[in-house]
Amino acid sequence: MRSIVWFRGKDLRVADHGPLASAAAVGEVIPLFVLDPFFFAPERAQGLPHRMQFLLASLVSLEANLAHLGSRLLVVPGRSVEVLPRLAAAWKADQVLAHRWVEPFARERDRRVDEALARAGIAFRLFEGETLLPPGSVRNGQGGMFRVFTPFARACGAKLDLEPALPAPRSLPPVPGDIRADTVPIPSPQALGLAPNPRLQAGGERAAHQRLKAFLEAALADYGVGRDRMDLPGTSRLSADLKFGTLSVRALWQAVAAAGAGESGRRYLNELLWREFSHHLLWEWPEVLERPFRPAFEGFPWREDEAAWEAWTEGRTGYPVVDAAARQLKSEGFVHNRARMVAASFLTKHLLLDYRPGEAHYLRWLTDGDWAANNAGWQWCAGCGCDAQPWFRIFNPTSQGLKFDPEGAYVRRWVPELADCPTAFIHEPWKAPQAVRQRLDYPEPIVDHAFARERFLATAKGHLGPGAP
Ligand SMILES: Cc1cc2nc3c(=O)[nH]c(=O)nc-3n(C[C@H](O)[C@H](O)[C@H](O)COP(=O)(O)OP(=O)(O)OC[C@H]3O[C@@H](n4cnc5c(N)ncnc54)[C@H](O)[C@@H]3O)c2cc1C
Repeated sequence: MRSIVWFRGKDLRVADHGPLASAAAVGEVIPLFVLDPFFFAPERAQGLPHRMQFLLASLVSLEANLAHLGSRLLVVPGRSVEVLPRLAAAWKADQVLAHRWVEPFARERDRRVDEALARAGIAFRLFEGETLLPPGSVRNGQGGMFRVFTPFARACGAKLDLEPALPAPRSLPPVPGDIRADTVPIPSPQALGLAPNPRLQAGGERAAHQRLKAFLEAALADYGVGRDRMDLPGTSRLSADLKFGTLSVRALWQAVAAAGAGESGRRYLNELLWREFSHHLLWEWPEVLERPFRPAFEGFPWREDEAAWEAWTEGRTGYPVVDAAARQLKSEGFVHNRARMVAASFLTKHLLLDYRPGEAHYLRWLTDGDWAANNAGWQWCAGCGCDAQPWFRIFNPTSQGLKFDPEGAYVRRWVPELADCPTAFIHEPWKAPQAVRQRLDYPEPIVDHAFARERFLATAKGHLGPGAP
């Protein structure tokens, strides 16, 4: 049996890799990565600089790991829908194995590849693994997908019976000698027109395992409290590893469950279920990438305000946590979850700007930028998403800062103009004495909180109607 194992950017590992293990168990293995111009054309790659840098580093690591096991990663440029059927036929493969993706465009790609391979009599097998449970498999009493997280999480808990994560293979068969292909080296970021950003996390399976180990040893025990603190390294920072599959979500789940950690451990596993929820939502309702989850939000009268948008993206709104988030995003491709919530709520509710450009901006700059989690996060913050709470939750950026960055360390780190601001005013520098304000060189708030709150509520009520859910 000759198998192509098609690595596709969300499974860049050798451990707990179902397609690789399954192929190796039945015969010859040809590991393949296709440099599809959909992502790798320089102008496309430049639109996702941090994700691309992480992905390329993870590919280099995968190539080394496969070589270490006795195999070889074949890297071929071209459109997947053409390259796969052509190479599978030329290489006389019996089957092509890959992990399932949940996005609508990926499902369409897989449908076309499946069709073309079927015409050539070659099997195409998709493995689960991006999520803990197959998307579409967690149903409510009526057989539908849950619209609210808590019952979804409960149903997952009742259903979860994970097989142990697969260890990395001890060795792999060499790529068969008759395989010929126009392979190319893995491109460098520079070759795609990207200036490498030294502040990003290192990609690759080994780096992922080091991050996991560090988290289990240093932060898991206090995660229940630490997860909300923007000023502390209290979270796992494993989101890009889950996104690119340098660590499988199943292996992570099992490592945390085995570590125990009581309530903190449970809180962490619950976060993994939020990730699960977002993927199942996108599977069920692929249209959410284009439209609000709550139909009542269609045609919402978002404002147009170029100056406000620029202030938000550049971190000059005069609200310290919002500005810190904007700058952290571009600097290191990451934003703390609470800062994401505050910043996204501010854009949509304080500035009354459409969530979609904000969502796209995050997708552009986040290293963990993921269609499902990012869309769910943005729609939740904008009020139009899947949420048990009504749409009128409005984060107060000042009280969020006071509570979750009490000394202002997060703000000082990312907004250096405020480094010397007295702690008493760090989250509301507009209240500092005039002499302090002059020294700080930091903008006045772009909008008054109470005014913005009322404006959003009035606008939303006007659009949704008084009794709108
Ligand atoms: C506006 C907005 C946009 C977001 N965009 C993304 C995105 O593009 N990619 C992404 O992975 N996450 C996104 N999130 C969710 C969350 O902010 C990040 O997963 C988290 O900050 C990553 O840091 P961590 O790995 O240290 O998290 P930890 O606190 O260590 O959490 C562990 C893991 O659980 C998952 N997780 C945690 N919170 C959430 C959540 N609310 N929704 C879904 N999964 C979650 C992540 O995979 C994370 O790595 C977004 C949230 C918001 C509010």
